[in-house]
Amino acid sequence: MGARLAALIARGGAIPLSHYIAYANQAYYAGRDPLGAEGDFTTAPEISQMFGEMLGLWAADLALRAGVGDFALAELGPGRGTLMADMLRVMARHAPPARVHLVETSPVLRDVQAAAVPGAIFHDDIQHLPDDLPIILIANEFFDALPIRQLRRGEHGWREVFVRLNDDGQFAPCDGDVPMEAVVPAALRGAALGSIIETCPAASAIATGIAKLITRAGGAMLAVDYGHMGARIGNSFQALSRHQFADPFVEPGSRDLTAHVDFGALRAALEGGGLMVQGPVGQGDFLRALGLDARANSLARAHPPRAAAIAGEAHRLTHGDEMGTLFQVLAARSPHWPASEGFAP
Ligand code: SAH
Repeated sequence: MGARLAALIARGGAIPLSHYIAYANQAYYAGRDPLGAEGDFTTAPEISQMFGEMLGLWAADLALRAGVGDFALAELGPGRGTLMADMLRVMARHAPPARVHLVETSPVLRDVQAAAVPGAIFHDDIQHLPDDLPIILIANEFFDALPIRQLRRGEHGWREVFVRLNDDGQFAPCDGDVPMEAVVPAALRGAALGSIIETCPAASAIATGIAKLITRAGGAMLAVDYGHMGARIGNSFQALSRHQFADPFVEPGSRDLTAHVDFGALRAALEGGGLMVQGPVGQGDFLRALGLDARANSLARAHPPRAAAIAGEAHRLTHGDEMGTLFQVLAARSPHWPASEGFAP
């Protein structure tokens, strides 16, 4: 992948950072299962079954209170399918059965997901999700994998960040040619030299598409990710390789590239599309409100030798020094649907 990207840049000149990320991540996910101890990073559902169980209760409760009979359950970027499998196990006890739709581009991960969630229907993008019945969508660590655009204030003013090849043939960020002052929020325009702001047009476009889908036949979405609220100064573009932070400009396609999610932008796109939004709230508060502590206790009682491990998993998912506040949870729903559990009023 690196060689192909380098050839592309050598031929056509620097490319926007967003294109660099899109190419790199497409190749990255298409070629491997990146999750778990052997891979590059781990996620909440891979840490503990309790994460998926709480999301399953969230979805079952909502479907019951919305009074739906038949509905679709969809996940964006399902990884190994662990989250969906854990949700379905819980939902089978509480809610009518749903048809499962998985939005996934990676052929390698599709195979893993098909084994974890037999009968799931696959889609390349959200365009082809069913719009003729109510739908509940979930997305854990999906939006952070979408390509961001960066704007940087350099000596010549605000410019989009591009990626070029330096004299050693290494990828390196550089300033684009076009003045970008006009797209920088007025409050941030005067930021110090070197300041960076990030936007994610792909995330906003997908949120707008989801709003359209949900308003058609009713439904809701839950998004969980690390992020912040609204436009701000800061560079969150990062690479993970073998569970360590790595240089995102080295070996594109072989390490996981992500950026923090702007929940303010997501919220604006979802509300602009006619949905009602709750949150974001911290993952710890959300999971505890849904009963994570009680679940951890009952699991520990049922498996005494695992009691300490289970307590550790609960801590990791909810504590402020771990994933509890870094990860945020946002819910959006059709105006005809009841509000979600898990969010303080
Ligand atoms: N939700 C999973 C995995 C997160 S990793 C978990 O919590 O464990 C990101 C996931 O999004 C992977 O499944 C990856 O293949 C998928 N993905 C990344 N970009 C995508 C895109 N543009 N369209 C669909 N899926 C994408």
